[in-house]
Amino acid sequence: MDDKINIECPHCSYVITLSLSALTPGMWCECLNCHQKIRITDQDIRHLLEAIKQKRGQRGSRMKSQKLRGKWDQIKGLAREFWGELTGDELDFIAGQRERLIGKLEEKYNITRAEAEKQVEEFERKL
Ligand SMILES: [Zn+2]
Repeated sequence: MDDKINIECPHCSYVITLSLSALTPGMWCECLNCHQKIRITDQDIRHLLEAIKQKRGQRGSRMKSQKLRGKWDQIKGLAREFWGELTGDELDFIAGQRERLIGKLEEKYNITRAEAEKQVEEFERKL
């Protein structure tokens, strides 16, 4: 997958879109607006990679939450087997919302958020 990244020209603030795969530290690119040369530093690339990783993470968890919500009626029974402590009412309240499920698990099982997330991921792998 070829990510596009935006670099702001330090001279005129024009935003240039580049392919991540075309970037190498120390390279120069030309601003399309003011035609000045812009040097891409190591640090720039690190920042950009970090931003992309974050964006991917958000996309990933959105997809996961859709997975739960989409067929919650079918999944509910499985969730009940997986977490015997959750009642039918609680499962209705959760309604396939990942955040609610995680919060409920923390509360009912007195576990950390990280542990609750791990359990939810494990559960999702079974779906
Ligand atoms: Zn410029």
